[in-house]
Amino acid sequence: MLVDLDEITKRIIKICNKKSSRRCFIQVPEGLTHLAHELSRRIIMEGVEGIVSVDPCFGACDIPYWKAKELGCDLIIHIGHAPMPTIKIPFDVEFIEVFYEVKVREDLIEELSKKILSMGFKSVGLVTTVQYLKLLAYVRTLLEKHGLKVFIGKSSGRALYDGQVLGCNVSSAKSISEKVDAYIFIGDGTFHPVAVYLAIGKPVLAFNPITGEIKDVRDLGERVLRVRLAHMMKASEARSFSVVVTSKVGQYNEELLRTVVNALKKFNREYSIIHLENIGEVLNYMKNVDVFVIIGCPRIVYDDYLKFKRPIITGTELLLSLSRKFKDWKFMEMP
Ligand code: SF4
Repeated sequence: MLVDLDEITKRIIKICNKKSSRRCFIQVPEGLTHLAHELSRRIIMEGVEGIVSVDPCFGACDIPYWKAKELGCDLIIHIGHAPMPTIKIPFDVEFIEVFYEVKVREDLIEELSKKILSMGFKSVGLVTTVQYLKLLAYVRTLLEKHGLKVFIGKSSGRALYDGQVLGCNVSSAKSISEKVDAYIFIGDGTFHPVAVYLAIGKPVLAFNPITGEIKDVRDLGERVLRVRLAHMMKASEARSFSVVVTSKVGQYNEELLRTVVNALKKFNREYSIIHLENIGEVLNYMKNVDVFVIIGCPRIVYDDYLKFKRPIITGTELLLSLSRKFKDWKFMEMP
């Protein structure tokens, strides 16, 4: 992540001064961890005790306000992600979004247009992450110039901006699903475009605006679906379940936990409830468990299953598994 440290420091100080904050808890994304010492040092020099958290943080769903409270902070500044409108945090939190100011080469968009047209698609939906949002309008104009119909959808739920997608919310893509033949994701990696494919089932091309690489993510999505089915089938036969909850503010879901527990009782299965803040390999040490049920980020289940030695499913997958309704699988969209 290319970030201007002077600019970020200035923005943090400005917010702290406006809020009269004397001790501030600052969350940085993984890509900024190497600058944590320098960031904290500079803020302290300006008269505010800036405590920079380098605990892993993958989204605005993960604002550990209780840690900030324990540390005597009066403010949290979260860097890198957009706020989530549906998540209420009982603490003063400010967001500093980081937008990439990259210039996309016109010839790369021309190549992209040719590829889309050669696949027989005439109308496309554009989606991206918050970092690349500023490219949307520009890419749209160029794609239209090359003869494509282009749509940018309305976001809802936890996604704030039109055209923005999260790993667990693709509402903007869904809102235009009737109008488009395929989607183009602008950004890096396949994490977000796979979410669009899993939720909608239409072709998704991931376009990297810096390198020009174009990747069709359908095969990746289909692999996820095959694994989901295999884990759910194993869960349907299993006896002993461990329900794993995280306390992350935008991931914990009390209603789903209650529904899962009631279903396990009804189907006469053994269960435990385990808390783990960052759900990971430590689960492999637990004995006498057949299946883990995650009440947290669904992408741990879809993407990280290889870390776990036993089947791992979401809460909604558990409900489908127990009633053997495997065909009703749906992408778990977080509100
Ligand atoms: S719940 Fe998972 S996918 Fe959704 S924002 Fe949080 S980390 Fe990302």
